[in-house]
Amino acid sequence: MVKAVVGANWGDEGKGKITDMLAERADIIIRFQGGANAGHTIINDYGKFALHTLPSGVFYDHTTSIIGNGVALDVPVLFKEIQSIIDRGVPAPKILVSDRAQMVMSYHKNFDAYEEERLGGKSFGSTKSGIAPFYSDKYAKIGFQVSELFDEELLKEKAARIADQKNVMLEHLYHKPLIKPEELYHELMEYKEMIEPYVCDTSSYLYHALKEGKEILLEGQLGTLKDPDHGIYPMVTSSSTLAAYGAIGAGIPPYEIKKVITVCKAYSSAVGAGAFVSEIFGEEADELRRRGGDGGEFGATTGRPRRMGWFDCVASKYGCRLQGTTDVAFTVLDVLGYLDEIPVCVGYEIDGEVTKDFPVTHLLEKAKPVLTKLPGWKCDIRGIKTYEELPENCRKYVEFVEEQIGYPITMVSNGPGRDDIIYRGQSV
Ligand code: GDP
Repeated sequence: MVKAVVGANWGDEGKGKITDMLAERADIIIRFQGGANAGHTIINDYGKFALHTLPSGVFYDHTTSIIGNGVALDVPVLFKEIQSIIDRGVPAPKILVSDRAQMVMSYHKNFDAYEEERLGGKSFGSTKSGIAPFYSDKYAKIGFQVSELFDEELLKEKAARIADQKNVMLEHLYHKPLIKPEELYHELMEYKEMIEPYVCDTSSYLYHALKEGKEILLEGQLGTLKDPDHGIYPMVTSSSTLAAYGAIGAGIPPYEIKKVITVCKAYSSAVGAGAFVSEIFGEEADELRRRGGDGGEFGATTGRPRRMGWFDCVASKYGCRLQGTTDVAFTVLDVLGYLDEIPVCVGYEIDGEVTKDFPVTHLLEKAKPVLTKLPGWKCDIRGIKTYEELPENCRKYVEFVEEQIGYPITMVSNGPGRDDIIYRGQSV
């Protein structure tokens, strides 16, 4: 059976924690999209880890971690990440990398930085991990696929061709140093050496695993609102963040995805530019940011302070719908225990009209939040193990959100650790 763990919002909803937790009962965990541009923070018996490329299942010795064909594979980052977890006492994980995954090259990162520099004040707030230039090249059919590393003739010819093409932009648009074909070839050979032990026809591997009835988790990066089709275009990422894409980015049949666990955080946060209707500012935002997540809401990749806001029912309902949610995991609820009253965004006012439907970007820019306030519970709920033991106002908050978004909240996360989870009804 395949389950997808995905985000409803802008990312950073706590997918890493939920994946790590569900991985206990899984055989295979797959990253199917995105790259090293966002991180997952995981806290377990080995310590606290910020992973960017490795799936969040690498901490168990019974799991196989797969980098699927849909991922923007940053070979040195993957290599460093594997080393860094081994150095901290985690048993060497079993990792397979799709032979159809494409690689982020150093020029992709350079182009990312050069373009942000060129755009100046109009930049996208990219993490400069090369993701947008990488996916542009993938679809322009000039990317480097892992399988190509094993055909040196082809690679030499292609390195020269790509250098020629890229150098036009470097010379005339960005006025930056040019790519030397032999250096590009050398970079590719270095990647080959690093990646060779892991390369696999992963879709075939998964085909057999499914036949054997293995438990498979698809781990999404970012969330619905960053999807290039259904998100807040153009302030989106460059690969699909939806569970449906899991089938493509892993190479499995779509009908095998039986559960879509959509992670929603009990308040909102976002990184990068773009409309954020329920955003809050000043001291109110600072306090939530300081108390948020585990040790504050700061980017796992960049350390940038995240933008903060109240829970947004409009965005989350939409986010869950596009994911095809079967279960909602509602996370970081413990953080809200300090508030007397908790504002929740229940509608958007656009040109004097209130809507509960998430609009397209140009209307979203005009939307003002319609807030309602729910009473707080004013205590620490960490350590509570059953739903009934949660304070009444806390349960009311969960049930209010559930009704507004229209999808069942079957898991409530009340702390960053693996065991900080409360199941409602049957466990997933
Ligand atoms: P992801 O990218 O969706 O995996 O999310 P991040 O890892 O960037 O952000 C989630 C942050 O919240 C991490 O620091 C987690 O350790 C933390 N976290 C996850 N669930 C909970 C929770 O229920 N309570 C608290 N306090 N922190 C949590």
